[in-house]
Amino acid sequence: MSMQRESSWPMVSVADAHAAIARVSATPLGTERVLSHRAAGRVVAHIVTAPADMPTEPRSTIDGYAIRSADGDIARPVVAELTAGGDTLAQLLPGQAVRIMTGAPLPAGADAAVMVERTQEVAGVLTYTGTVRAGECVIQPGSDMRAGDVVMPVGSVISAGDVGLLTNIGLRHVTVYRRPVVAVLSTGDEVYEYDEPLPYGGVRDSNRPALLAAIAAAGCEGISLGIAPDQPELQRARVMAGLARADVLITSGGVSMGTRDFIKPLLAELGQVQFGRIAFKPGKPTMCAVVGTTIVFGLPGNPVSSLVSFEVFVRPALRRLMGDATPERPRVPVHLADSIMPSPDRPEYMRAAVRWQDGRLVAITTGAQGSSRLLSMRAANALLVIAPGEQRLAAGSLVDALLVGDVH
Ligand code: AMP
Ligand code: MG
Repeated sequence: MSMQRESSWPMVSVADAHAAIARVSATPLGTERVLSHRAAGRVVAHIVTAPADMPTEPRSTIDGYAIRSADGDIARPVVAELTAGGDTLAQLLPGQAVRIMTGAPLPAGADAAVMVERTQEVAGVLTYTGTVRAGECVIQPGSDMRAGDVVMPVGSVISAGDVGLLTNIGLRHVTVYRRPVVAVLSTGDEVYEYDEPLPYGGVRDSNRPALLAAIAAAGCEGISLGIAPDQPELQRARVMAGLARADVLITSGGVSMGTRDFIKPLLAELGQVQFGRIAFKPGKPTMCAVVGTTIVFGLPGNPVSSLVSFEVFVRPALRRLMGDATPERPRVPVHLADSIMPSPDRPEYMRAAVRWQDGRLVAITTGAQGSSRLLSMRAANALLVIAPGEQRLAAGSLVDALLVGDVH
Protein backbone atom coordinates (compact mmCIF):
# COMPACT_ATOMS: atom_id res chain seq x y z
CA MET A 1 0.00 0.00 0.00
CA SER A 2 1.41 3.38 -0.92
CA MET A 3 0.95 6.24 1.53
CA GLN A 4 0.40 9.84 0.62
CA ARG A 5 2.82 12.00 2.64
CA GLU A 6 1.50 15.47 1.79
CA SER A 7 -2.04 16.53 2.36
CA SER A 8 -3.72 16.88 -1.02
CA TRP A 9 -5.71 19.87 0.24
CA PRO A 10 -4.24 23.20 -0.81
CA MET A 11 -3.44 25.46 2.12
CA VAL A 12 -5.48 28.68 2.07
CA SER A 13 -4.68 31.86 3.95
CA VAL A 14 -6.74 32.96 6.92
CA ALA A 15 -8.12 35.80 4.79
CA ASP A 16 -9.16 33.42 2.00
CA ALA A 17 -10.75 31.06 4.51
CA HIS A 18 -12.72 33.96 5.98
CA ALA A 19 -13.80 35.07 2.52
CA ALA A 20 -14.99 31.57 1.61
CA ILE A 21 -16.89 31.28 4.89
CA ALA A 22 -18.43 34.72 4.42
CA ARG A 23 -19.67 33.60 0.98
CA VAL A 24 -21.37 30.45 2.19
CA SER A 25 -22.91 32.11 5.26
CA ALA A 26 -23.93 35.35 3.53
CA THR A 27 -27.70 34.78 3.64
CA PRO A 28 -29.30 34.77 7.07
CA LEU A 29 -31.69 31.96 7.90
CA GLY A 30 -35.44 32.58 8.12
CA THR A 31 -37.21 34.90 10.52
CA GLU A 32 -39.62 34.45 13.39
CA ARG A 33 -41.63 36.64 15.74
CA VAL A 34 -40.69 36.49 19.41
CA LEU A 35 -41.98 38.26 22.48
CA SER A 36 -40.07 41.49 23.04
CA HIS A 37 -39.32 40.61 26.62
CA ARG A 38 -37.66 37.37 25.49
CA ALA A 39 -35.76 38.93 22.61
CA ALA A 40 -32.43 39.78 24.28
CA GLY A 41 -29.52 38.45 22.23
CA ARG A 42 -31.60 37.98 19.09
CA VAL A 43 -31.00 39.93 15.89
CA VAL A 44 -33.59 42.31 14.42
CA ALA A 45 -34.88 41.07 11.04
CA HIS A 46 -37.52 43.74 10.29
CA ILE A 47 -36.75 47.38 10.91
CA VAL A 48 -38.34 48.67 14.12
CA THR A 49 -39.82 52.19 13.94
CA ALA A 50 -41.46 54.33 16.59
CA PRO A 51 -45.25 53.98 16.36
CA ALA A 52 -45.87 57.36 18.04
CA ASP A 53 -44.08 60.39 19.39
CA MET A 54 -42.37 59.81 22.72
CA PRO A 55 -43.42 61.31 24.97
CA THR A 56 -46.87 62.02 23.63
CA GLU A 57 -47.34 65.20 25.67
CA PRO A 58 -45.05 67.71 27.45
CA ARG A 59 -44.06 66.39 30.87
CA SER A 60 -42.24 67.68 33.87
CA THR A 61 -38.72 66.28 34.37
CA ILE A 62 -38.63 67.37 38.03
CA ASP A 63 -40.61 67.56 41.22
CA GLY A 64 -41.62 71.22 41.57
CA TYR A 65 -44.12 73.65 40.08
CA ALA A 66 -45.45 74.17 36.57
CA ILE A 67 -45.68 77.84 35.61
CA ARG A 68 -45.87 80.23 32.65
CA SER A 69 -42.37 81.62 32.18
CA ALA A 70 -43.83 84.84 30.69
CA ASP A 71 -45.42 85.66 34.05
CA GLY A 72 -41.93 86.42 35.36
CA ASP A 73 -40.88 86.79 38.96
CA ILE A 74 -44.24 87.09 40.78
CA ALA A 75 -45.95 85.38 43.68
CA ARG A 76 -48.36 82.76 42.30
CA PRO A 77 -51.32 80.98 43.85
CA VAL A 78 -50.84 77.18 43.75
CA VAL A 79 -54.12 75.95 42.28
CA ALA A 80 -53.65 72.18 42.02
CA GLU A 81 -51.27 69.26 42.43
CA LEU A 82 -50.40 66.96 39.52
CA THR A 83 -48.71 63.63 40.10
CA ALA A 84 -47.40 61.19 37.50
CA GLY A 85 -50.36 59.04 36.57
CA GLY A 86 -52.69 61.17 38.69
CA ASP A 87 -55.23 63.83 37.77
CA THR A 88 -54.56 66.17 34.88
CA LEU A 89 -55.36 69.86 34.65
CA ALA A 90 -56.86 71.22 31.45
CA GLN A 91 -55.57 74.77 31.71
CA LEU A 92 -53.16 76.82 33.78
CA LEU A 93 -54.29 80.44 33.83
CA PRO A 94 -51.87 83.37 33.71
CA GLY A 95 -50.29 84.05 37.09
CA GLN A 96 -51.01 80.57 38.48
CA ALA A 97 -48.78 77.68 39.48
CA VAL A 98 -49.48 73.98 40.00
CA ARG A 99 -47.48 71.60 42.12
CA ILE A 100 -46.17 68.94 39.72
CA MET A 101 -44.21 65.70 40.12
CA THR A 102 -41.65 64.12 37.76
CA GLY A 103 -43.38 62.55 34.76
CA ALA A 104 -46.72 64.33 35.14
CA PRO A 105 -48.05 66.03 31.97
CA LEU A 106 -47.83 69.82 31.98
CA PRO A 107 -51.21 71.59 31.84
CA ALA A 108 -51.96 73.68 28.76
CA GLY A 109 -50.76 77.21 29.37
CA ALA A 110 -47.71 76.13 31.36
CA ASP A 111 -44.41 76.15 29.51
CA ALA A 112 -41.85 75.47 32.23
CA ALA A 113 -41.34 73.82 35.58
CA VAL A 114 -39.23 75.05 38.46
CA MET A 115 -37.63 72.53 40.75
CA VAL A 116 -38.83 72.37 44.30
CA GLU A 117 -35.32 73.08 45.65
CA ARG A 118 -35.54 76.63 44.24
CA THR A 119 -38.99 77.40 45.60
CA GLN A 120 -40.90 78.42 48.65
CA GLU A 121 -44.61 77.75 49.15
CA VAL A 122 -46.21 79.65 52.00
CA ALA A 123 -49.96 79.57 52.62
CA GLY A 124 -50.61 78.33 49.09
CA VAL A 125 -48.46 80.98 47.42
CA LEU A 126 -45.36 80.10 45.37
CA THR A 127 -42.22 82.18 45.08
CA TYR A 128 -38.85 81.09 43.68
CA THR A 129 -35.34 82.41 43.28
CA GLY A 130 -33.73 83.26 39.93
CA THR A 131 -35.37 83.20 36.51
CA VAL A 132 -37.07 80.33 34.70
CA ARG A 133 -36.71 79.98 30.93
CA ALA A 134 -39.49 78.75 28.65
CA GLY A 135 -39.16 74.98 28.31
CA GLU A 136 -37.04 74.60 31.43
CA CYS A 137 -37.44 71.19 33.12
CA VAL A 138 -39.96 70.11 30.49
CA ILE A 139 -39.58 67.21 28.08
CA GLN A 140 -41.34 68.14 24.83
CA PRO A 141 -43.57 65.75 22.83
CA GLY A 142 -41.49 63.73 20.39
CA SER A 143 -38.18 64.83 21.88
CA ASP A 144 -37.18 61.26 22.84
CA MET A 145 -38.33 59.96 19.46
CA ARG A 146 -40.76 60.89 16.70
CA ALA A 147 -43.35 58.62 15.12
CA GLY A 148 -41.61 56.82 12.24
CA ASP A 149 -38.07 57.24 13.61
CA VAL A 150 -35.88 54.15 13.08
CA VAL A 151 -35.51 52.68 16.54
CA MET A 152 -33.58 49.52 15.60
CA PRO A 153 -32.16 48.76 12.15
CA VAL A 154 -32.06 45.27 10.66
CA GLY A 155 -29.01 43.37 11.84
CA SER A 156 -28.78 44.90 15.29
CA VAL A 157 -28.39 42.65 18.30
CA ILE A 158 -31.07 43.21 20.93
CA SER A 159 -29.57 44.32 24.25
CA ALA A 160 -31.19 44.73 27.65
CA GLY A 161 -31.66 48.40 26.80
CA ASP A 162 -33.32 47.42 23.54
CA VAL A 163 -35.78 45.17 25.39
CA GLY A 164 -36.61 48.27 27.40
CA LEU A 165 -36.99 50.27 24.21
CA LEU A 166 -39.23 47.71 22.49
CA THR A 167 -41.54 47.42 25.47
CA ASN A 168 -41.44 51.18 26.08
CA ILE A 169 -42.90 51.81 22.63
CA GLY A 170 -45.49 49.11 23.18
CA LEU A 171 -44.24 46.40 20.83
CA ARG A 172 -45.30 43.03 22.17
CA HIS A 173 -43.44 41.15 19.43
CA VAL A 174 -40.35 41.73 17.35
CA THR A 175 -39.30 39.93 14.17
CA VAL A 176 -35.85 38.38 14.52
CA TYR A 177 -33.72 35.95 12.59
CA ARG A 178 -34.00 32.30 13.45
CA ARG A 179 -31.23 30.86 15.58
CA PRO A 180 -29.00 28.47 13.66
CA VAL A 181 -29.24 24.84 14.73
CA VAL A 182 -25.70 23.55 15.07
CA ALA A 183 -24.95 19.83 15.39
CA VAL A 184 -21.70 18.63 16.96
CA LEU A 185 -20.03 15.27 16.39
CA SER A 186 -16.90 14.02 18.10
CA THR A 187 -14.82 11.35 16.40
CA GLY A 188 -12.12 8.98 17.56
CA ASP A 189 -11.74 5.38 18.72
CA GLU A 190 -9.94 6.72 21.79
CA VAL A 191 -12.65 9.25 22.68
CA TYR A 192 -15.03 8.49 25.57
CA GLU A 193 -17.86 10.24 27.35
CA TYR A 194 -16.43 12.16 30.27
CA ASP A 195 -18.24 9.98 32.80
CA GLU A 196 -17.28 6.63 31.29
CA PRO A 197 -14.37 4.63 32.72
CA LEU A 198 -11.30 5.74 30.80
CA PRO A 199 -9.13 2.92 29.44
CA TYR A 200 -5.39 3.19 28.85
CA GLY A 201 -4.83 5.59 25.95
CA GLY A 202 -8.34 6.99 26.13
CA VAL A 203 -9.31 10.68 26.22
CA ARG A 204 -12.45 12.22 27.59
CA ASP A 205 -14.57 14.01 25.03
CA SER A 206 -14.13 17.64 25.93
CA ASN A 207 -14.63 19.02 22.44
CA ARG A 208 -18.34 18.37 22.18
CA PRO A 209 -19.29 19.90 25.55
CA ALA A 210 -16.96 22.85 24.95
CA LEU A 211 -18.22 23.44 21.42
CA LEU A 212 -21.85 23.15 22.53
CA ALA A 213 -21.14 25.74 25.22
CA ALA A 214 -19.50 28.03 22.66
CA ILE A 215 -22.45 27.52 20.31
CA ALA A 216 -24.91 28.47 23.04
CA ALA A 217 -22.77 31.49 23.94
CA ALA A 218 -22.89 32.51 20.27
CA GLY A 219 -26.69 32.56 20.55
CA CYS A 220 -27.31 29.36 18.59
CA GLU A 221 -29.02 26.09 19.37
CA GLY A 222 -26.66 23.15 19.70
CA ILE A 223 -27.49 19.49 19.25
CA SER A 224 -25.23 16.61 20.14
CA LEU A 225 -24.48 13.80 17.70
CA GLY A 226 -22.40 11.90 20.24
CA ILE A 227 -19.08 10.24 19.54
CA ALA A 228 -18.39 8.27 16.37
CA PRO A 229 -15.53 5.77 16.28
CA ASP A 230 -12.99 5.92 13.45
CA GLN A 231 -15.03 3.80 11.06
CA PRO A 232 -16.12 5.41 7.79
CA GLU A 233 -19.62 3.96 7.72
CA LEU A 234 -20.40 4.85 11.33
CA GLN A 235 -19.11 8.38 10.80
CA ARG A 236 -21.12 8.70 7.61
CA ALA A 237 -24.31 7.68 9.41
CA ARG A 238 -23.78 10.28 12.15
CA VAL A 239 -22.90 12.97 9.64
CA MET A 240 -26.03 12.19 7.60
CA ALA A 241 -28.14 12.42 10.77
CA GLY A 242 -26.58 15.81 11.50
CA LEU A 243 -27.12 17.08 7.97
CA ALA A 244 -30.82 16.22 8.19
CA ARG A 245 -31.30 18.29 11.36
CA ALA A 246 -28.82 21.12 11.36
CA ASP A 247 -28.02 24.37 9.60
CA VAL A 248 -24.39 23.91 10.53
CA LEU A 249 -22.53 20.70 11.36
CA ILE A 250 -19.27 20.68 13.28
CA THR A 251 -17.09 17.60 13.58
CA SER A 252 -13.93 17.34 15.63
CA GLY A 253 -11.05 14.97 14.98
CA GLY A 254 -10.27 12.78 12.03
CA VAL A 255 -9.11 15.54 9.69
CA SER A 256 -5.36 15.01 9.84
CA MET A 257 -2.97 12.73 7.97
CA GLY A 258 -3.49 9.62 10.08
CA THR A 259 -4.58 6.30 8.62
CA ARG A 260 -7.82 6.59 10.64
CA ASP A 261 -8.78 10.08 9.52
CA PHE A 262 -11.92 9.69 7.42
CA ILE A 263 -13.81 12.96 7.78
CA LYS A 264 -12.24 14.88 4.89
CA PRO A 265 -12.83 12.28 2.18
CA LEU A 266 -16.36 11.82 3.49
CA LEU A 267 -17.17 15.56 3.26
CA ALA A 268 -15.51 15.77 -0.16
CA GLU A 269 -17.70 12.94 -1.36
CA LEU A 270 -20.91 14.39 0.11
CA GLY A 271 -20.55 18.05 -0.84
CA GLN A 272 -18.48 20.97 -2.08
CA VAL A 273 -15.26 21.56 -0.20
CA GLN A 274 -14.57 25.29 0.31
CA PHE A 275 -11.11 24.66 1.69
CA GLY A 276 -9.32 21.75 3.32
CA ARG A 277 -6.44 23.37 5.21
CA ILE A 278 -5.67 26.82 6.58
CA ALA A 279 -2.25 28.40 7.12
CA PHE A 280 -3.06 29.00 10.74
CA LYS A 281 -2.08 27.84 14.20
CA PRO A 282 -3.58 26.08 16.07
CA GLY A 283 -5.94 24.31 13.68
CA LYS A 284 -4.25 23.91 10.31
CA PRO A 285 -6.34 20.87 9.20
CA THR A 286 -9.65 22.78 9.52
CA MET A 287 -11.98 22.04 6.60
CA CYS A 288 -15.15 23.75 5.42
CA ALA A 289 -17.64 22.17 3.05
CA VAL A 290 -21.21 22.78 1.98
CA VAL A 291 -23.46 19.74 1.83
CA GLY A 292 -26.92 20.56 0.50
CA THR A 293 -28.00 23.53 2.61
CA THR A 294 -25.74 22.69 5.55
CA ILE A 295 -22.36 24.29 6.17
CA VAL A 296 -19.97 21.72 7.61
CA PHE A 297 -16.80 22.48 9.53
CA GLY A 298 -14.33 19.66 10.09
CA LEU A 299 -12.28 20.83 13.06
CA PRO A 300 -9.14 19.15 14.38
CA GLY A 301 -9.39 16.94 17.45
CA ASN A 302 -7.00 18.73 19.71
CA PRO A 303 -9.14 20.55 22.24
CA VAL A 304 -7.46 23.92 21.86
CA SER A 305 -7.35 23.70 18.06
CA SER A 306 -11.04 22.90 17.82
CA LEU A 307 -12.06 25.76 20.10
CA VAL A 308 -9.75 28.35 18.54
CA SER A 309 -10.86 27.30 15.04
CA PHE A 310 -14.45 27.59 16.20
CA GLU A 311 -13.82 31.07 17.52
CA VAL A 312 -11.91 32.31 14.49
CA PHE A 313 -13.82 30.62 11.66
CA VAL A 314 -17.11 29.07 12.79
CA ARG A 315 -18.48 31.71 15.11
CA PRO A 316 -18.49 34.52 12.51
CA ALA A 317 -20.42 32.21 10.18
CA LEU A 318 -22.98 31.45 12.89
CA ARG A 319 -23.38 35.14 13.71
CA ARG A 320 -23.83 35.96 10.02
CA LEU A 321 -26.44 33.21 9.60
CA MET A 322 -28.37 34.70 12.50
CA GLY A 323 -28.31 38.06 10.78
CA ASP A 324 -25.77 39.89 12.93
CA ALA A 325 -24.55 42.89 10.92
CA THR A 326 -21.24 42.82 12.85
CA PRO A 327 -20.43 39.11 13.08
CA GLU A 328 -16.73 39.53 13.85
CA ARG A 329 -15.17 39.98 17.27
CA PRO A 330 -13.65 43.38 17.91
CA ARG A 331 -10.00 43.57 16.87
CA VAL A 332 -7.90 46.02 18.86
CA PRO A 333 -4.19 46.77 19.32
CA VAL A 334 -2.75 45.58 22.65
CA HIS A 335 0.66 45.79 24.30
CA LEU A 336 2.52 42.55 25.06
CA ALA A 337 3.37 42.17 28.75
CA ASP A 338 6.12 39.66 27.92
CA SER A 339 8.14 38.87 24.84
CA ILE A 340 6.85 36.07 22.62
CA MET A 341 8.29 33.94 19.83
CA PRO A 342 6.14 33.83 16.68
CA SER A 343 5.60 30.67 14.71
CA PRO A 344 8.10 30.59 11.82
CA ASP A 345 5.58 29.68 9.12
CA ARG A 346 1.98 30.39 10.12
CA PRO A 347 0.00 33.15 11.78
CA GLU A 348 -0.68 32.04 15.32
CA TYR A 349 -3.69 32.90 17.44
CA MET A 350 -2.31 32.91 20.97
CA ARG A 351 -4.59 32.83 23.96
CA ALA A 352 -4.14 35.76 26.27
CA ALA A 353 -5.69 37.68 29.10
CA VAL A 354 -6.09 41.32 28.11
CA ARG A 355 -6.52 43.87 30.87
CA TRP A 356 -6.94 47.60 31.03
CA GLN A 357 -3.86 48.73 32.90
CA ASP A 358 -2.41 52.21 33.34
CA GLY A 359 -4.48 53.61 30.50
CA ARG A 360 -3.80 50.93 27.91
CA LEU A 361 -4.71 47.36 26.99
CA VAL A 362 -2.04 44.91 28.10
CA ALA A 363 -1.93 41.22 27.05
CA ILE A 364 -0.47 38.42 29.12
CA THR A 365 -0.38 35.09 27.32
CA THR A 366 -1.87 32.16 29.18
CA GLY A 367 1.37 30.15 29.29
CA ALA A 368 2.36 27.19 27.13
CA GLN A 369 0.30 27.34 23.94
CA GLY A 370 0.27 23.60 23.11
CA SER A 371 -2.83 22.59 21.20
CA SER A 372 -3.78 19.90 23.71
CA ARG A 373 -3.36 22.20 26.71
CA LEU A 374 -6.88 23.35 27.49
CA LEU A 375 -5.48 25.32 30.41
CA SER A 376 -4.25 27.80 27.81
CA MET A 377 -7.91 28.75 27.29
CA ARG A 378 -8.38 29.34 31.02
CA ALA A 379 -9.04 33.02 31.75
CA ALA A 380 -8.27 33.94 28.12
CA ASN A 381 -10.42 36.80 26.87
CA ALA A 382 -8.41 37.41 23.72
CA LEU A 383 -6.64 35.77 20.83
CA LEU A 384 -3.45 37.56 19.87
CA VAL A 385 -2.96 37.55 16.12
CA ILE A 386 0.77 36.91 15.77
CA ALA A 387 2.17 37.10 12.24
CA PRO A 388 4.78 34.48 11.33
CA GLY A 389 8.38 35.53 11.86
CA GLU A 390 11.89 34.59 12.96
CA GLN A 391 12.28 37.40 15.50
CA ARG A 392 11.10 37.37 19.07
CA LEU A 393 8.53 40.12 19.70
CA ALA A 394 9.72 42.26 22.58
CA ALA A 395 7.65 43.02 25.66
CA GLY A 396 5.72 46.21 25.01
CA SER A 397 5.22 45.46 21.29
CA LEU A 398 1.82 46.29 19.86
CA VAL A 399 -0.07 43.35 18.36
CA ASP A 400 -3.68 42.89 17.25
CA ALA A 401 -6.03 41.02 19.54
CA LEU A 402 -9.45 39.56 18.89
CA LEU A 403 -11.47 40.24 22.01
CA VAL A 404 -13.45 37.08 22.71
CA GLY A 405 -14.58 37.91 26.23
CA ASP A 406 -15.08 40.81 28.60
CA VAL A 407 -12.09 43.02 29.38
CA HIS A 408 -11.73 43.86 33.06
P1 AMP B 1 -7.30 13.95 15.59
O1 AMP B 1 -7.59 15.33 15.05
O2 AMP B 1 -8.44 13.02 15.45
O3 AMP B 1 -6.04 13.42 15.03
O4 AMP B 1 -7.06 14.14 17.14
C1 AMP B 1 -6.00 14.96 17.61
C2 AMP B 1 -5.85 14.83 19.10
O5 AMP B 1 -7.01 15.31 19.76
C3 AMP B 1 -5.69 13.40 19.59
O6 AMP B 1 -4.75 13.38 20.63
C4 AMP B 1 -7.07 13.04 20.07
O7 AMP B 1 -7.04 12.04 21.06
C5 AMP B 1 -7.56 14.35 20.64
N1 AMP B 1 -9.01 14.41 20.55
C6 AMP B 1 -9.75 14.08 19.48
N2 AMP B 1 -11.06 14.27 19.72
C7 AMP B 1 -11.14 14.74 20.99
C8 AMP B 1 -12.24 15.13 21.80
N3 AMP B 1 -13.50 15.07 21.35
N4 AMP B 1 -11.99 15.60 23.05
C9 AMP B 1 -10.72 15.68 23.48
N5 AMP B 1 -9.65 15.33 22.76
C10 AMP B 1 -9.84 14.85 21.52
MG1 MG C 1 -8.80 11.06 15.64
